[in-house]
Amino acid sequence: MGNKVIIFSAPSGAGKSTVVGHLLGLHPEFEFSVSATSRQPRGAERDGVEYYFIEAEKFRSLIADDAFVEYEEVYKDRFYGTLKSEVERIWNAGHVIIFDVDVKGGYNLKKYFGDKALSILILPPSMEVLESRLRGRGTDTEEAIAERLSKAQWEIDFAHGRFDCELVNDVLEQTFRESERIVDEFLSK
Ligand code: ADP
Ligand code: 5GP
Repeated sequence: MGNKVIIFSAPSGAGKSTVVGHLLGLHPEFEFSVSATSRQPRGAERDGVEYYFIEAEKFRSLIADDAFVEYEEVYKDRFYGTLKSEVERIWNAGHVIIFDVDVKGGYNLKKYFGDKALSILILPPSMEVLESRLRGRGTDTEEAIAERLSKAQWEIDFAHGRFDCELVNDVLEQTFRESERIVDEFLSK
């Protein structure tokens, strides 16, 4: 199984967390990669579980030390990234790393890991469906929904053709079956 990586990316609301959660439930050998961020914890988020929470200054010094596989400064002083130490930790445990990141992060991770990685782009059937899923999820304000939708078209245009495969998440059960098939094929190689 040695040193494999599965990357899921999508515009927010397309269903990547749902699909990743499903696959984690099926595969005990999969382990979710915990990103580092310099943003403050929200609600009940715990350090080392949802994220490793790191001060911006410390984040910068880790960048200078080449400690990241990839990172992004999404807003000023608000960094997100994957630590090389996290990758080593999961591989040393003999597990397959599973990533749930935005399209830019996913593209950069695939470039870094090459043939060790399978990158899957999850797409909504339409922008109207994406909007209704974001509303239905009930976790975002109207302002955040509008922001996510305006970013989504750009993300789809950027990502199209840059991933190993693209999955339109229409009927959830079909998406589950198709993602299981793609992942099993990759792991058996
Ligand atoms: P992401 O992680 O890409 O932001 P989520 O997995 O949180 O997206 O999904 C957004 C919302 O859409 C959630 O409420 C989820 O339950 C719902 N959802 C996901 N896939 C489907 C689907 N195929 N059909 C209907 N609802 C879905
Ligand atoms: P949030 O602050 O809502 O948890 O996440 C904001 C954004 O950061 C999301 O789009 C999420 O996918 C992205 N993100 C989370 N972890 C990483 C990471 O390790 N690298 C990159 N590039 N983006 C990430």
